[in-house]
Parts: sequence; structure tokens; C-alpha cells
Amino acid sequence: MRAVRLESVGSMIMSLVEKPRAGPGEIIVRVLAAGICGSDRHMFKGEYPTAIPVTLGHEFCGLVEEAGEGVSSFVGGELVTVDPNIACGTCPACRRGRPNLCANLKAIGVTRDGGFAEYVALPCGQAYTLPADLDPVHGAFCEPIACCIHAIDKAQIRPGDSVVILGGGVIGLLMVQLARLAGADRIILITRQLSRREAALRLGATQALDPTATDAVAAVRDLTDGGADVVIECAGVPETFQTGVRMVRRGGAFVLFGVTPAALEVPVLPFDLLFNEVEIRPAYLNPFTHSRAAALVASGVLELDSLVTKTIGLDEVASVVGSAPLAGEIKVIVRP
Ligand code: NAP
Repeated sequence: MRAVRLESVGSMIMSLVEKPRAGPGEIIVRVLAAGICGSDRHMFKGEYPTAIPVTLGHEFCGLVEEAGEGVSSFVGGELVTVDPNIACGTCPACRRGRPNLCANLKAIGVTRDGGFAEYVALPCGQAYTLPADLDPVHGAFCEPIACCIHAIDKAQIRPGDSVVILGGGVIGLLMVQLARLAGADRIILITRQLSRREAALRLGATQALDPTATDAVAAVRDLTDGGADVVIECAGVPETFQTGVRMVRRGGAFVLFGVTPAALEVPVLPFDLLFNEVEIRPAYLNPFTHSRAAALVASGVLELDSLVTKTIGLDEVASVVGSAPLAGEIKVIVRP
């Protein structure tokens, strides 16, 4: 079968490899759609640890083709979405119910072969059944949505709240929709590209600001009577961390979601955080949220089609992952 493998940092190659067989407790999924994520680009550049060689692709959806010994939950033919994160279940974090902080966390498409391939072998407990008639491209969105749901849970948005979202990539545009579903009244998306601000307004944002054209902190304070109830940082750059904590109202919450480069220090004013009792709440991965993401995607309530800006085959994956995102790019989908 064909698989796009990270052979070394900076080198991804489409190869012919042996089709995997289902081991005990495993299923084989024939990949129908897989999303390219910013993390894949970080892994390509060696900025995020992976196994090497490994087939990348941790956001995917496909059909169960084979069920291994001891698997009773699938017979074959089911459309499934896959939670890529495999917690050990026995480390102190897992035993405290925090699988996303597992000391031995493994991930499909990161530390074992993933979805930029025709087939993937995975533990059956990682797969969640979707309606058979669902568009598999929508199914490929379940993984990022599951991460966003964890952030929305942490944000504790209440009906009528004001929410600021910093960064209008696919994550920011999903957060806009989830904040709306959570009952937010005012949703302000802050991002530099006009096409993304326009998309945000179509998807439920009440305002969309360009941080290069306006004093975004002053604008948010003005629009929200002194500061937003919740700010969700989805850009992963120092500037949005620094400005974001200043957009929160006194006693409000700042949800840290964007991934800044490891070891990068960002100066903030601890006095201001203390004086204003700004709660910093990091949200990492998808603990216990994948089934809710699958249900939400299956319900059709989220607008996903307009987030797909390009669809490619396996032969183009290496060049897309190996290049910076193009202007206007939101989500690239791979159809093996
Ligand atoms: P993305 O496509 O890179 O989107 C982030 C966007 O933020 C950029 O494209 C950029 O859009 C905008 N941005 C950059 N600098 C900005 C600034 N100074 N002010 C306002 N906006 C700015 O990434 P994504 O796929 O949407 O993911 C967003 C972040 O979430 C990434 O850091 C990703 O690694 C992270 N993530 C975290 C988790 C988790 O579990 N915590 C899970 C998945 C992803 P413009 O050009 O329009 O400004």
C-alpha cells in the first residue's frame, strides 16, 4: 500500500509499504479522508517529537476493513473516526483521570503509523462509529473538534458571555462555532487575514478585528464593557499571549490553546494577573471529548465544508506538509 512516511527530520517520502495486519484487539481502517494539521508541519521540522520513520496523519476517518482477534465492537464496514491519543492507563496522571497528561502517551500518526496512508492498524478502543452516510471529510474534523471541545469545557462559557478568540486558522474558526453553541452572546475573532475575518463573521462571530490595523486590546475592552469574560488563544504566538491576557475582564478566564515553540519565554506582568484575578487555563488535547466531537459532527450542526480550502492525494502530502501554509489556507484534506 502507499504511505507517506517521515523518514528523517525534513524528509517525507511516499513509499510502498506492506499493508498492516490487525493484531489482537486491533482493527484495520481504510482511510477515506485525513486532515493536515499545523502539528504535522512541526513534526516535519523536528519541532515536535515523533518516532522516525513513521507515517504521519492523526486526523482521519475511514472504514473498518478487518477486526483482529478479540475485537467484538466492530465487524467490518463501519465508518469510524479515530482518537489518535493512546494513554497507558496506569501512570499517576491516568489514575487521576487525566489521560491527556499521561506520562507514556503514544499517538497514532506521531509515535506509530497514522493516516497519510491507505490503511492504518489501531487499537479498537481508539475508534468511534459515525453514521454510515456521513461525509468522511467531516469525520476527519472530529479530532481537532475534540481538542476544541476540551478548551470550550475549560472556558466554562455561560449564556450571554463575551468571548474573544485570537487566531483565525481552522481552530479559531471551529472555536467561533463552538462558542456560539455554548451560548456566548458576543464573539470577537482577532486575526490578520481578511478572508478569515469574513469567514468568522459568516460562522457566528459578532465582530472580527485585524490586530495590525487597530489597538485590539482597547477595541475589546470597548466592545465588552471593560474586558471579555473569556479569551481563547488559538494562534500560538507570543503577541497573542501578551495581548490576550490584557483583553480578559477582571476575574475572567484566559484559555491557552495555541502551541508556542517549546522553551520560548514570553514576558507577562504577574502583578496584573494577580490584581485582576485572571485565570490562566491551559487546554491540551482531547481527554474524554472524542465521542462528543463525533456526535456533534454527526449532528451536522457545524459548518465544515467552507473550512476545506484544498483536497489532495497522497502524492502531494509531502510537499504540502513540507511548505508553509499558503495565504488563505484553512484546512487541507487528503483523500488516499
Ligand atoms: P493556524 O492555521 O496556524 O492558525 C493560527 C492563526 O493565528 C494563523 O494562521 C494566523 O492567521 C493567526 N495569527 C498569527 N499571529 C497572529 C496575531 N499576532 N494576532 C492574531 N492572529 C494571529 O493553526 P490552527 O491549525 O488553527 O491551530 C491553532 C493553534 O492551536 C496552533 O498553535 C496549534 O498548534 C494549536 N493546537 C492546539 C491543540 C491543543 O490541544 N491545545 C490542538 C490542536 C491545535 P492570520 O494570518 O489570519 O493572522
